[in-house]
This record gives sequence, structure tokens and C-alpha cells, in this order.
Amino acid sequence: MPLEDVRAMQAFKLRRQLASVAGRSGFYARKFAGAGFEPGSVKGIEDLARVPFTEKQELRDSQLAAPPLGDHAGVEMGDTVRVHSSSGTTGRPSYVGITRADRDRWTETVSRVYWCEGVRPHDVLIHGFGLGFFVGGLPLKDGIENIGATFVPIGTGASDRIVTSIQNLGGTVLTCTPSYANYLAEYVRDKFDADPRELRLERILLGAEPGGAVPAVRQRIADTYGAFVTEGLGNADVSPVYAGTCDELDGNHFVAPDYIALELIDPDSGEVLPWEDGADGELVATHIERDCVPLVRFRTRDRVVVGTSPCPCGRTGPRITCVGRTDDMLIVNGVNVWPSAVSDVIADLHPRTTGAMQVMLLAPPPKVEPPLHLQVEYGLEASDLALERAEVEGLLRDRLIVKADVELVPPGTLPRFEMKSQLLRRVYEEPKSTSEQVSAR
Ligand SMILES: [Zn+2]
Repeated sequence: MPLEDVRAMQAFKLRRQLASVAGRSGFYARKFAGAGFEPGSVKGIEDLARVPFTEKQELRDSQLAAPPLGDHAGVEMGDTVRVHSSSGTTGRPSYVGITRADRDRWTETVSRVYWCEGVRPHDVLIHGFGLGFFVGGLPLKDGIENIGATFVPIGTGASDRIVTSIQNLGGTVLTCTPSYANYLAEYVRDKFDADPRELRLERILLGAEPGGAVPAVRQRIADTYGAFVTEGLGNADVSPVYAGTCDELDGNHFVAPDYIALELIDPDSGEVLPWEDGADGELVATHIERDCVPLVRFRTRDRVVVGTSPCPCGRTGPRITCVGRTDDMLIVNGVNVWPSAVSDVIADLHPRTTGAMQVMLLAPPPKVEPPLHLQVEYGLEASDLALERAEVEGLLRDRLIVKADVELVPPGTLPRFEMKSQLLRRVYEEPKSTSEQVSAR
């Protein structure tokens, strides 16, 4: 669809959505009233600039105050058909419900993204993301089946099954995180004494971590497997995926403009930035067709660069490349390290760890002089702590290419929180305001 037509459609859907949200979400009714914003006054997407942002922490607070789904959810629990969680870390998860219509919207969106990434009905897709709770699980199943391709549900922590499924079922596509693709290559060499190219995968579709947007990371995985490597971009609170790389390998086409309106903002001032080729800013998402958890101007904290020049593939959706989080990326010896990825590795060692961990920053980020200092809670089933420490450090080295110095601490000693950015703990001297924040945590 030409972009002018897209904008007209979005304007119509936005007006309808905002009127509906104000009527069924106390959270948004209050937010709109507090800002003196009248949903009926909206003419187009540009009017969104008058609406206050929605922060992740507000959603969490809303859910704690009005369980189970929160005052922002907009529908009752009884109207949902499924509930996902937007965080894999410890403590109370942040729940995201979907109605039957939301489920269908997700399915359509996931299908578009995976089609854009080259998945066709004859493909056999091996699923290597978490299946439980995670939006990269069942919604992907629905989308892949909708394409007519074959979905093979393996999930995480079953590398042996992933390899044998690719071999036995003729898997053509693997979808997983970049760090897992790297780990699996080593696993194939060590445990199967084989070259990853012998798996004969045609495509590897990365997601859930920003590494897939880094050309060097993508190229390394492509060379290792002899496969075409692309990336899908999503957000648990917004949509499991909403953008994917086409074969031109020049950013991820946004393919859900009929469900989501995206804005680009300056992460510091909050000012809206023009959506033009090469523009760089934080992505802000507004659902324009969504029943449960209808977000308005949600700050994704994803820092992106956009491409708007015509793409030879014919898709008109702008291309989005995630270049980091506006809050938490670290660089250790030139390697991008995401605290959330570190957290995933630690979580995989459950029950020998509780899953709780903190990265200790001895100097201002993002650059970290190796090793990366971590506190990790050992689990109740941990017996030999020296061995476990070596195992944690080894796994971090293998999967994230990072040299870590791990201090194991007793279960329950680390503070519990949900924000991925708070996986970082600043232990260096800095202006008072931030250190006060640290102690308050
Ligand atoms: Zn394209």
C-alpha cells in the first residue's frame, strides 16, 4: 500500500482506538484527562505528540494495583484467550493478555514478518526460542502454521533435540537468538563432531536480542552455517514481532501499520523526530487496533535507525534497525553485551541458579574493562560452588563471548525487579542523584 494510503488508514483507526481506550481503560482515561487531552480531537498520527507517553514501569504499577491484568488492560480476564508474560526474569512477571481478535492480529503480523524473512509453505521451521509464556513461543507457532510451513516446537535448553530434529525432519529454517546460534555451532562441533554447515539449514531467523542487527554478528552466523541470516524485531508488550529483514538485508521492514503506529523520538527530550531516511531515535508504539493492553505512546526503549528509501523488494514499510537499548547496552572488548542476554544465560542454569543476577559496573557504561563483574544467586540445588562458578563463566564465554568474573551469592540476597535495565548495578562514584537511586533499589 502506498504510504499516503497507509497514513489515512492509520488516522481512521487511531481515532477509533483512542475513543475506545478512553472508555474502557481507567488508566488511560486518567492519563488523558490529566494531560487535558481529548481523544475526539485527534485527526491523525501527528496529533499523538499531544498525548503523554506510557512507560513500562507504569504498566507494572497498574498491574500490581489492579491484578491480574492491570487497569491499563482495557478488557476483563474473562475476555482473554491467552496470557503471556513480558519478562523472563525473576519476581512477579508482567502479564500481557490477548483476546481472540488480538490473537488473530498477532498471527497475521507474525506471518507477514516471517514471510518477509523468506519462510514459505514448504519450509520446516525449527523453533529454538522459549515456548512457555514468552511471546516468541506460541504466537510464532500460530504465524508459521498460518503461512502453511511446518512448525517444530523444541524451545530452549534442548540442543540435542534441535540438531536431531533438523537432521531427521529436514529442517530448513532455524529461529533463535544470535547468542544461541553461536552456542549451537559450538555444540554441533563438540557433541556431533560435525561442521554446522552439514545441517544444511537454508535460513536462520534471529530475534529476541539485538545482535541480529549487527552485520558482523549476522555475517559470522551466516558463514558458520552457510545459511541466509535475517532478523525479526518485536516487543512483548507491543507485538511478538512487527518488523523483519527482507532479502535485501537492509533493515527490518515494519509490516504491521494497520495494527500499530510507530513514532520516533529523541530519547532525552521526548521530542518527535521526523521519520526520514537515516533518522536515529527511540521507537514509540501506539496500538491502533488492539483489545487487551491497548498501549498508547509506549516507550519501547529500543534505539533504532530508520530507512525510508524505496526497497527493491517492493514493500513500502519503513526499515528499522535496532542499534541498542536507550538504557542498558554494554560493550566489553568491542563486543555488545546485553544484560538481558546475560540474564538469559544465568536463567538457563536454573535450578542450580535462582535466575537472579546483577551486573556490577565499576565505571560508567557502556564500555566495560573486562572481566564483566557479576553477582549471581546460586540455587538451592547448587552443591559445588567452585564448579558452578566455572560453569557460569564458561557458558557466558561460549554464548556471549564475554569474559566474566562471577561472584556467587546465596539465594534470595539480590533485590528483585523486573526492569531489564535494572539488571545493572552501578558501584562507581557518580553524581548523587543516581547513587541515591541505587541505594533506593
Ligand atoms: Zn525490502
